[in-house]
Parts: sequence; C-alpha cells; structure tokens
Amino acid sequence: MERSRLIRTMESILGPEGVIHEREQLRTYECDGLMNYRVIPDLVVLPESAEQVQKVVRVCHEEGIPFVARGSGTGLSGGALPVEKGILIVLSRMRRILEVDLENERVVVEPGVINLWVTQAVSDEGYFYAPDPSSQLVSSIGGNCSENSGGVHCLKYGFTTNHVTGAEVVLPDGEMVHLGGGKAPDEPGYDLLGAFVGSEGTLGIATKITLRVVRQPEAIRTLIAAFEDTEKAGGAVSGIIGSGCVPAGIEMMDSLCLEAVEAAVHPNYPECGALLLVELDGPEAEVESQFEQVKRICEENGSSEIRVARDDEERALFWKGRKAAFAAMGRISNDYYVQDGVIPRTELPEVLKKISDLSSEYGLRVANVFHAGDGNLHPLVLYDGEEQAGRAEELAGEIIRVCLEHGGSLSGEHGIGEDKKKYMPEMFTAEDLDVMQLLRCAFDPHHLCNPGKVFPTPRLCGERPGPFRMHPLQEAGLAEMF
Ligand SMILES: Cc1cc2nc3c(=O)[nH]c(=O)nc-3n(C[C@H](O)[C@H](O)[C@H](O)COP(=O)(O)OP(=O)(O)OC[C@H]3O[C@@H](n4cnc5c(N)ncnc54)[C@H](O)[C@@H]3O)c2cc1C
Repeated sequence: MERSRLIRTMESILGPEGVIHEREQLRTYECDGLMNYRVIPDLVVLPESAEQVQKVVRVCHEEGIPFVARGSGTGLSGGALPVEKGILIVLSRMRRILEVDLENERVVVEPGVINLWVTQAVSDEGYFYAPDPSSQLVSSIGGNCSENSGGVHCLKYGFTTNHVTGAEVVLPDGEMVHLGGGKAPDEPGYDLLGAFVGSEGTLGIATKITLRVVRQPEAIRTLIAAFEDTEKAGGAVSGIIGSGCVPAGIEMMDSLCLEAVEAAVHPNYPECGALLLVELDGPEAEVESQFEQVKRICEENGSSEIRVARDDEERALFWKGRKAAFAAMGRISNDYYVQDGVIPRTELPEVLKKISDLSSEYGLRVANVFHAGDGNLHPLVLYDGEEQAGRAEELAGEIIRVCLEHGGSLSGEHGIGEDKKKYMPEMFTAEDLDVMQLLRCAFDPHHLCNPGKVFPTPRLCGERPGPFRMHPLQEAGLAEMF
C-alpha cells in the first residue's frame, strides 16, 4: 500500500493523534534500551483499545506489512527494535487497571500498565505483585510478559510466567484469542499461554493480561554482607541456597559496581571487593531463625562485615544502590554493554573468575551486578567510544560462551531479541531451532509479527539452508511445514 494511503487508513482507525509519521518524530522510537541497533519505522501507531490493535493488525495482515509491538521501550535485547518499512504498535496508551479481584488473587490489566502500579493498586489490601524487574518504575506489563521478566523477588516467587494466568491476544492475522484467564487454577489443553509468555512479541500482541498477586509477608529482614572478593561472596550464595533456605532475593555487586553506586547515590555501603544483599520474608518465626542461619553462613564464608537494616528507611537505602546500579555506571564509564546470561549457582565462583580473566585479556573493565540467587549474571562491559564498541561486544559474547560451557543459558531475563540471536546456534541444534520455528509459524505463517528477532537468520517458514531435507517431524507425519 502506498505510504500516504496507509497513513490515511491508520488515521481512520486511530484518529490523527494516534499516528506518528513525521521522520523527526519517528526517531524517538528508533531503538529500545539497547541503543546499539537503530531502525526508523515507517509509521508508529498509538492504539487506545484492543479493537484498534485488532484493526491495525488486520491491515498489516492484508497488506503484508511487518509490525512490532512496543511497551515502554526499556528492553535491553532490541526486542522492540522497529522493522524497516514496518509499523511500530506502541501500547503505552493502554494503561488501565481493569479489574482487581482479590478474592481470586488476580488483577486484570491493559498491556501498557507499569509494573509497579500493580503492587500500588493492591498494597492497601495487603497484597503485592512479585516479579519486580529493576525497571519496574517504567517497564510495562506487556513488555514484562513478552520478555518473561525477572527481578529481585523471582528467586522465591518465580518469574513473570508464574504470575500471568491469562492473556487476550491479537494474533498476527487479526484474530483475537483468549489464553488461560479463567478463575479456576488450571485448564485442559496445551499450555499456549506458557508458550506466549516469553515469546518476545513474535506470536501476537497482548491486549489484556491477568496477573496473580500474592499476600504480603508477615515479616521482612534485609542484610548486607561485605566480602573480600566475588569468589567468597559466591561461596556464601551457594552455602545459603544449599542450606535449604530460600531468601526472597540475593543480589551481588562487585567492587567496580560499588564504586559507581557510591558515587551516584551514596548508599554508604562498606568498602569491600564484593557485597551481598540478602532479603528474607515469610512468617516472623521462620524469618528470624533463617536470618541467623544466613548470617552464620556469610561469616563462615569470610564476610568481614554484616549490617542488618534496622527499619524500612534503612532497608530502602540498602536497595537504593542496587536498583540504581545500571544507571550509576555513567559515573565511571562513558559507555557500557549489559550482558545477560544465567548459570547454575554452584558455578558462580568459577564463572566470575573467568569473567575477570577475560576482562584482563581484552583490556576492558567489567562490572558485575546480578541476581546471584538465580545464577543470573549481568556483567557490564565498560568501554569508551566507537572504536572500543566492537571489542566490548566480542568480550560480552565470550562471557556468554563461558555461561554455556558451565551449563548455563544465553539469557537470564532480558531475552534474545535482535542482540543475541547470533548465539542461538551455540545453544540449540538446527533441529531445535526448526521446532521453535514450527511453533512460531503456527501463530504467524507469514512472518509479519516482530520478524528478524530471536532466530539467527531471517529464514522464512519452511525455508531451510542447503539441499531440501524433510524435517523428521514431517517425515513421521507429526507436523506440517507451512
Ligand atoms: C535500568 C534497567 C533495568 C532492567 N532490569 C531488568 C530486570 O531486573 N529484569 C528484567 O527482566 N529486565 C530488566 N530490564 C529489561 C526490561 O525492562 C524488561 O525486558 C521489560 O520487561 C521490558 O518492558 P517494556 O515495557 O519496556 O517492553 P519493550 O522494551 O517495549 O518491549 C520488550 C518486548 O516485548 C514486546 N512487547 C511489548 N509489549 C507487548 C505486548 N503488549 N504484546 C506482545 N509483545 C509485546 C516487544 O515487541 C519486545 O519484543 C531492565 C531494563 C533497564 C533499562
């Protein structure tokens, strides 16, 4: 369709204020939180209702126009990177909390609702929404759902996927479907909702999401423990988890990270090579006894200082440094590249040692701040200017390889997106990737929904490199290539 006609069609669906088509305004949307990749979309649309999303997607389907959903644009893997000649569907105007049903411990929201608003909506009644990415002040529930976001409290409470119980989804052909969402705890049939959560915007657009909220714990205790180095702190993490205690969260920051946060937000942490922040929650009696156990394990692993938060104010101060850590890097480096890998917790000391060796080999500093309890690493590769950017990305890639060698995976929580699709064949076989494509093609046979993300090459459904070979699932009559 000619661009001017497409603009008129979109304006007839969304009104002129719901369509952005001036080049300078489109630049606002050229990237998400990963600024290394930029593409200016053909058009940006700002729907206010599920019906409008559905109408936009129908036009895309009929005209063969690729489209990408965007929430708040805080993603760090380029998942919401626009597609050239495509439409970016921004969900941030759909931000109503539609239903608070505490008898069934559920809240129904539109996708643009900000993560923290869910907890704010139920906290007076003694509930909270557990998945709490560090971006929870700005990231949307639609984005959290697509990335299966994690956060500090996911160690104990589970990732986003454990808290999304239903979704209304506009499929890539414009059909609207409901996945899960009933008041009963389980439904028969395939877990399509499970497939949708974490699918990085490649299977459709969520227009309504049902979330599970949980009771606030009776007691919360928080401590920080200082260690000489990350190896000793890593040993304490393994010790705590190995003792059978499941804290609400265990976070680690290394000395470089501590230098940055001290300069930025002055949390007055003890001077040390590595800091652990441990939070326990639950019934008062259980928290008290486990807290003593955690303190003992930290001491046994060489902690030089332990501070316990005396009140909510001090607890907030403890958390302030951790929550501000990514932003604080600007204090010590012009640029940084955030990596996101995950490893078995027991491998922490060895993997951290290898990251430090790689940092020396490449001559680039690496700061570490991460959800240690989950084994979820966020090495921040610090660099300066364009000429170091390539080397920083290469080093970040080597870190991912170390995670894979140690039985880990290429993404802990930020997703694959545009950024990490090149590493997918290092973790998955060609057959694994084909099976994933089959699922994707069942939802999106024309490859219009966030194309070019997650999978390593822009292969079309049914297209395989090299001479034709029937897929074993097809051969067995178990699946059909679209
Ligand atoms: C400072 C900082 C800290 C962060 N900390 C964490 C953290 O602790 N844990 C964590 O997991 N992540 C973290 N992130 C990454 C990011 O905030 C999360 O991935 C978040 O879920 C993205 O939400 P968003 O609304 O910004 O989504 P976007 O970036 O807009 O989009 C992310 C993906 O979701 C898709 N999408 C968005 N809305 C929809 C929808 N309605 N339907 C279908 N697909 C959709 C997009 O196409 C894209 O693929 C952090 C980011 C920053 C900048």
